[in-house]
Amino acid sequence: IPPVVAIVGRPNVGKSTLVNRIIGRREAVVEDLPGVTRDRVSYDAEWSGTDFTLVDTGGWEVDAKGIDKMVADQAERAVDVADAVILVVDATVGATATDEAVVKMLRRKKKPVVLVANKVDGPALEADAAMLWSLGFGQPWPVSSLHGRGTGDMLDAVLEVL
Ligand code: GDP
Ligand code: MG
Repeated sequence: IPPVVAIVGRPNVGKSTLVNRIIGRREAVVEDLPGVTRDRVSYDAEWSGTDFTLVDTGGWEVDAKGIDKMVADQAERAVDVADAVILVVDATVGATATDEAVVKMLRRKKKPVVLVANKVDGPALEADAAMLWSLGFGQPWPVSSLHGRGTGDMLDAVLEVL
């Protein structure tokens, strides 16, 4: 059975865009409005000869109610069945209170976490990515899920913790 990698983070940070980038297809639903991925969805993925299962999740809301609570619960459940976690943060926004809540949840889980500083579309944004060292998950990997920048190095880091 291939190892499971869960992709978590608050809505609109680019989780589904990253999933599509990694699998090389447009199967995960990308939406400009937050909270569109209602269900967690699994995809077969491969990097450098290693097969793994990628699990996309919806947003993880702090004051989760109704649909938000459902999405939040699914994100946590995805982490519970995962061997490793990719935490996606929007580097152009920085860490929000919601991101901090996700971080807190992940600390309790004690699963290996690879931190993605997403939306780093060019070198000018790398300083913003470096700010995310403060989250305490080691090196923030600067990535542009939209353009593919940095995803290879980040995936190498994922394989190292599997
Ligand atoms: P999710 O809610 O975390 O799954 O986020 P989505 O993948 O649906 O993306 C939300 C929005 O962010 C969409 O408009 C994406 O096109 C945009 N987005 C995702 N990744 C990037 C990126 O690397 N750079 C930029 N500029 N936009 C991105
Ligand atoms: Mg999504």
